[in-house]
This record gives sequence, C-alpha cells and structure tokens, in this order.
Amino acid sequence: MYVCGATVQGVPHIGHVRGALNYDVLRRWLLHSGLDVLMVRNVTDIDDKILTKAADAGRPWWEWAATHERAFEDAYTVLGCVPASISPRATGHVTQMVELIERLIERGHAYASGGDVYFSVSSQPDYGSLSGQRLEEMQQGETAAEGKRDPRDFTLWKASKPGEPSWPTPWGDGRPGWHLECSAMATAYLGAEFDIHGGGVDLVFPHHENERAQSHAAGDGFARYWLHNAWVTLSGEKMSKSLGNIVAIPALLEKARPVELRYYLVQPHYRSTIEYSDEALAEAAQGYRRIEGFLRRVASARDVRVGEVPAEFAAALDDDLGTPQAFAVLHNTVRDGNTALDTGDETKALEFAEAVRGMVHVLGLDPLGDQWQDASAGGGETKALGTLVDGLLAERTQLAPTRTSRARTPSATS
Ligand SMILES: [Zn+2]
Repeated sequence: MYVCGATVQGVPHIGHVRGALNYDVLRRWLLHSGLDVLMVRNVTDIDDKILTKAADAGRPWWEWAATHERAFEDAYTVLGCVPASISPRATGHVTQMVELIERLIERGHAYASGGDVYFSVSSQPDYGSLSGQRLEEMQQGETAAEGKRDPRDFTLWKASKPGEPSWPTPWGDGRPGWHLECSAMATAYLGAEFDIHGGGVDLVFPHHENERAQSHAAGDGFARYWLHNAWVTLSGEKMSKSLGNIVAIPALLEKARPVELRYYLVQPHYRSTIEYSDEALAEAAQGYRRIEGFLRRVASARDVRVGEVPAEFAAALDDDLGTPQAFAVLHNTVRDGNTALDTGDETKALEFAEAVRGMVHVLGLDPLGDQWQDASAGGGETKALGTLVDGLLAERTQLAPTRTSRARTPSATS
C-alpha cells in the first residue's frame, strides 16, 4: 500500500496524523488477516512552501524539511504507528521521475516547454474518472503558465528559478512536481500495479487524479483501490495553520495520554469527519479507560493472553474498515466481562478479557501490551515525545529572523 505522506513544512497537528493512524489500523488488520503488507509512505521534502518558510526563517531548506520530517516521524511513533516499510523522500527519487517523464513524452502524453514539463490531460481518455469530474469543469489550482497548451494541463517538472535547489534533466535544471513524485515512488517500490493507495480526501483532486493519469498514461496499472480519509475539523473548518496550533500533538498530549489520543482518532470511521473538541477527546479517554480498567482487573488475578477476535468484530473491519461497529463489539465485550466479574464468574471473565485483548491488539490499543507499558515507565515513547516537543521549540527558535546566506543551499547541479 502507498500512502501520501506529509509535505514537511511545519509541526504536525491531529489533522495530519489522522490518516497515518487510519492506515496503521488497516495495515494491522490486513496483517492480522494473514496478508503480507508492504507500506510505503512518502515524504515531500521539496515544495514551494518549504522553500518559502525556510527562507523566511533564514534556514537552509533541507534543514527545515529534515527537522519537520523528524517531528512527523516522532508523532507517528508517539501515537503507536508501526513504522512504514520505507519512507522515501522526493529528493532521493529524481532519477525515477526523469525516467517516468521520458516515458510520458515518448507516448505523447507530456511535453516540455521553457524548462517546464506538462502533462496533456486531453491525451488521457479516463482523466477525471477518479474524482468524477468533467474535463470542462476542472481547475488544477496551478498558476497560469505561458507554456501550457491547455490551461488544464498540469506540471510534471518545474524549471528552477535562480537560487532555488535544482537537479539536471534533459529539459533543463529544475525540481519535481508534487504529483509526479508519488507516481515515481509508488512504482519504484511497489511495482507497476499494486493494491491500495491512500491519502486525505483533499487529495482526490488534483493530486490523486493526476498521479493516476500519469501512471495509466505511462502504461502502468497503478493502484487497484483508492482510500481517502476525512478531515479533522475545528468549528467546522479544515484546520489551517493558525487553528492547527491549538491541536498540535504536544498541546493535545497535555490533555490526554498518547494511547487515548490514538483511541480518539481511530474510533470514528475513516471517511467520517471528526469535529475536534476537548469534550469529545475527554469522552474518548474515558472510553479507553473502561477497556483498560476491565483488562487490569482481570490481569491482576489471571494471565490474560491475546485471544481470537469475535466474528462480528472481524466482519466490521472487513467491511471498509468499519471501526465504529468494531468498537461497539469491543465495548459490549467489556461490559459482558465486567458483568461476569461482578457475578464472580472468573472463567467467563477471562474468556471475555482474552477476546478484548485480541481486539485492542489489532487496533494498536492494548493496555497490557509492551507498546504502551513504556508510557508509565517513562521509556521509549516518552523519549520520542520529548524529541517531538524539542522539534516544536526548535521551530520557534528558528523563526527568529537571522537570515543566512543562500550559498548554504546545495544544488545537485553544482
Ligand atoms: Zn501523493
């Protein structure tokens, strides 16, 4: 599976990590179901926003990107995500991008113009079918460019402006277009055709439509299934940078433990919008503690192993990753287990506890597992959190206006 990862321009907030958690649960469920899963999540480490923000802060763009890449990795770790099989960076895959552009030009789907290379959308018959749009109504959201034959064509490769990082290509020095990098990296690791492509719902168009068009036009089967996770909103709005500070991961971890924040973000269906509120987070934390309390009650007297998951739980996750139904089964089992404990039926209680452990194990929420034991003991997870907070502080320090020379910026052409 290929998941579009972060453009590493700032500190992660819950809107950014929600998708990572959704695909982490999916991956754990597929593994549990006996499948072998390779998970590729890219890092967009070259982009207009990274260049602008780094320049404003007077820092080298590559340091800015690397610092925020670490903050994202730390956030994933703190929230219990299994590390990706690989997290390829755009800047490390220019060779694959150039090769893909060459194939597209050869097949008549792309053209170079003034150092840029564009994809011709009218050359691809199924263009628009992923997002369900008609070609006449589409807007790429790119700034108008003189070299485009059709204003709806999108950029595969950008000519670099003086002072910008660049890489040499047959069409001149430049840097990767965002859409192109994902097609190149997905096929580099997963082959011409692979099973699942995930990302946020805001990526359906133009990003995923364009990835798919490029890869199909190049003759690759590309993704068989597309999954799009919904947003986390604050007062009904998609989180912007200013709102994002309120829900930055370190700020939220002062209100809930990491495992409780994970519970909060994975319980709703991945396609349902989460409207963030402190009350809802507190409620989720309570829900988690009910599970934890029950398991600890049983575990204080007996050894609770990770049992089989109930059939209804499996059926729920098999049906488009139905986490709300799966959590309902989980809570019903906890309730039955507590009833068994209250009536002194320890054998029955242990059975329920083992089923509960089986379920929380799949969801990455096992309070008796090694993963969350560290939290109370002040182990690895707390350390990762420390790094995350340090990253946030470092960003603030870097925002002090000390402009440094552009001469520090390496260029692949020099
Ligand atoms: Zn992507």
